[in-house]
Amino acid sequence: IQLSLENRTYVVMGVANKRSIAWGIAQSLAKAGARLIFTYAGERLEKNVRSLAETLDRSDHLILPCDVTDDAEIEKTFSQIKEEVGTIHGIAHCIAFANKDELEGEYLNTTRDGFLLAQNISAYSLTAVVKAARPLFTEGGSILTLTYLGGEKVVKNYNVMGVAKASLDASVKYLANDLGKDNIRVNAISAGPIRTLAAKGIGGFNDVLKEIEERAPLRRTTTQEEVGDTGLFLMSDWSRGITGEIIHVDSGYNIVSL
Ligand code: NAD
Repeated sequence: IQLSLENRTYVVMGVANKRSIAWGIAQSLAKAGARLIFTYAGERLEKNVRSLAETLDRSDHLILPCDVTDDAEIEKTFSQIKEEVGTIHGIAHCIAFANKDELEGEYLNTTRDGFLLAQNISAYSLTAVVKAARPLFTEGGSILTLTYLGGEKVVKNYNVMGVAKASLDASVKYLANDLGKDNIRVNAISAGPIRTLAAKGIGGFNDVLKEIEERAPLRRTTTQEEVGDTGLFLMSDWSRGITGEIIHVDSGYNIVSL
């Protein structure tokens, strides 16, 4: 088995800035020698991704737009990737979105549009991306996505995003079952709360961080590097027997009750 990621290519989707979990994963994959392809949503973010990618040792990365609400754009992105590299070995899907005003108060107030938006970007997009990328996995591979405890249990203010994460978690299992016969694994990392752009939209986020420091078994919050290194593990052959799994990288918080 191959324990480094040299001679392998990974698509990292969802770098917005240096705090993005996607960037943590990219740095860990780069440490292991991987070639990276970044996708971003909207021109506004291209510059950020370019300047971050320039800090990596390897300079053979590709940077492409991919708004995951647009099937034609997803197709185009992966056909460009196919032309450039032929084969990919993994995808890190680090993408979510919900309306900020639905990430506070009662879940009951979720609108139909807000519900569908969260499901579309945060859950269905994994399936859409995997569908387009499947022909590029000619040597097997590993796909990972980012989920959160709020999809398993009720977490205050997480609301419509919790329901989207539950759908994402189920998608991981169905996709793992579809793709296992081609030696493509699909897993999720359930990250503890990390202060990122996406997290800023969630009501009462500071209180959540404090709660983790006080009550999580490790008595500290999760870092971008911790999630990145678990991402590296899931992309590497070290994790070759694991698929359809949700691995909590959360200082153990999910095991604790009142
Ligand atoms: P982030 O804001 O850095 O990343 C979210 C990304 O989603 C951004 O790059 C954004 O451009 C992208 N995105 C939004 N709409 C898109 C679209 N239509 N097409 C393509 N990309 C789109 O925040 P993050 O916290 O790094 O989020 C990454 C993932 O981690 C998300 O799935 C999030 O739910 C998950 N997560 C975050 C935490 C946390 O506390 N930060 C905890 C658990 C899980």
